[in-house]
Parts: sequence; structure tokens; C-alpha cells
Amino acid sequence: DKLRESKVFLRALFDYTPYEDKATPCQEAGLPFRKRNILQVVCQEDATWWQAKRVGDCNLRAGLIPSTQFQERRLRYRMKMGSLPAAAPLKAPLSSLRRSFRLKKERQSAPAEAADPKHTEFLIYEEVTQYVPRPSERPRLIVLIGSLGARINELKQKVIAENPRRYGLAVPHTTRTRRSYEREGVEYHFISKAAFEADIQNRKFIEYGEYKDNLYGTSLESINRVLNQNKVCLLDVQPEALKTLRTAEFKPYVIFVRPRIHDGQGKSFGSSSSLSVGLTEEDLVEMSQSAERMEECYGHWVDYVLVKEDLSSAVAELQRALERAQTDPQWVPVSWVR
Ligand code: 5GP
Repeated sequence: DKLRESKVFLRALFDYTPYEDKATPCQEAGLPFRKRNILQVVCQEDATWWQAKRVGDCNLRAGLIPSTQFQERRLRYRMKMGSLPAAAPLKAPLSSLRRSFRLKKERQSAPAEAADPKHTEFLIYEEVTQYVPRPSERPRLIVLIGSLGARINELKQKVIAENPRRYGLAVPHTTRTRRSYEREGVEYHFISKAAFEADIQNRKFIEYGEYKDNLYGTSLESINRVLNQNKVCLLDVQPEALKTLRTAEFKPYVIFVRPRIHDGQGKSFGSSSSLSVGLTEEDLVEMSQSAERMEECYGHWVDYVLVKEDLSSAVAELQRALERAQTDPQWVPVSWVR
């Protein structure tokens, strides 16, 4: 039996509830799992139902999971019939997320194919393997994504201020004029509009956007500059940019920061917790919806979820997560290590 132990590990990219699955041959035999769970596949002999165990689960019993081919076939069919539920494991078009960034910086990522409704890929499984970071390698890129109210910039600045030799930021480019206290290459790289547009054409930016008539963007080169100094680069971008960044070169470790929202039937709304000061009930509802949307659309790419209560505990937790990301074994797509 040992010899037949499978070496196939999959990261689930969707939530699966056997009890809601009408197609399963036996609901009791199904293996429930959540997005981000790691599944060890023990048998793939059947084309429709595989057998798998959840990694890190004390329950060692294997259960049935839909095979990739089967899951894809039925999603394709449901899509054709227009009957996909709202929470279907599909990549939602970017437009549905826009609102969640209303209070955030007025950022926009480079127009991506996500805006094209025909470009829809099914999120089913991703084959993964354990990767142990080596000190001889460049640090992994850290990508921070946050839902409404997460205030990632503040977190990022704190972490860097406490250890500027270990952590760094990619310096963005902008077309706005330099302010007297700013230095070229520190706050920004200041370039002309023509140069910026040429850089867009040459695909130098992983994302860019317009703010008050000026262009701003983050280049691949600026990320590489930080990593090549052997520093951990903290990047805070629109999650759409992950499509470009998820490569063996960067091995991004994705941290999703969401504010803790106390919603005990509204009792804690407006409590003196630092997060909810000055926020209306409507703000809090909007914040939790934003977090849900982020989880739904990008949660499958997330390595670590940080629920932010107050700034100092969030900074401490972030620092611990960042250190682990550079030292502990981690599940990554097989294509990153081959
Ligand atoms: P400021 O001109 O005050 O330095 O920055 C104004 C705004 O520019 C920021 O709040 C943010 O919305 C935008 N910005 C700064 N850096 C970047 C970047 O790298 N990419 C994008 N898309 N926007 C940025």
C-alpha cells in the first residue's frame, strides 16, 4: 500500500460540499473541502470521482472528490445553461469589484482580459508541491491584498520602518511633478508622460493607473531591484496583477488582510474598537461585503489570511507570517519548482 501512496497534491480552488452535490454516487463518501485546502489524491483510477485526503487533517479517511475533467464538464454545462450560482468558482470580472475599492486609493490596474466576459477560466484544482525556501535564493515576493478598510499601506510602512534592512518597497513611477521634499528614486521615479506611455507599450509595468491626471505605476524592474538586494519586497497591488506575478521567478506569497468586523447582531457596531471608530453600520456592512468579494474572487491565490484587529497586533502578526514565508516549507504550484 505504501508503494501506491500518491504523490499528487492539489490545492482546492473552490469550496466543495458533498451534501449539496446531486451527482455524487454517495454523499457520505464525499470529502468536503474549502478553497485553499491541500488535498492528497490517493486514487485517480475513476475518470469522474477521485479519492483524496485533506492534508493536515487528523481525519485520515479518504473521500470522493470530483475529478478535474468532471468538474470542468459540469461547470461548462451550467455556464451554457446560464445557471451558475453567484458563488460559482469562476473568476468574476473586475468590474464587479470596483465598488469595493471606492474608499481605497483611486487605483486601477492595467486593463486586463478580466474585463472580457468571454475570458473565463474554471477554478478547480492546482497541482502543488512543497517548496522549502533556501537562503541562497532571492526572497519570495510578498503580495499584500486587502479588502476595504484593511489599510495595507500603513501596515507595510510600519513593517519596513522596523526593519529597513530586511524589508523594502518597489519604488513606483509617476508623471506628476516632484515635490520639494521628494527625491528621485526614493518616493518615486519621476518620468515624463511620453516616457511613461512608452513603458506601458513595452510592458514594463505590472500595473498602472491614473490619479488626478497623473499616471502612476509599478514596474517589474523596481520589484527586481529590491529582491536583488536580498530584501523582502512588500508589494501592495490590485489583485489582478497576481496573474502576471505568479511565476517561478517571484514565487509570490500572498497575504490577504481583512479587517475584523464585529457583527454580533449589530451589538458591537460602533464599539470603541480602534477599527470601528467613526464608522457607520453601513460602512461596516460594506467592509464585510468587500472582504467576501475579495475572498470569492481571489481567495484561491491566498497563502495567508490576516484578520486585522488593531494596528500593532496586525503588524506583529504580519512580521511573523513574513518570516515564516521565507523559512518554512510552503505549498506552491509544481511549475514553480520544476
Ligand atoms: P501622491 O501623488 O500623493 O504621491 O499619490 C497619489 C496616489 O497615486 C496614491 O494615493 C495612489 O492612488 C496613486 N499611486 C501611487 N503609487 C501608485 C502605483 O504604483 N500604482 C498605481 N496604480 N497608483 C499609484
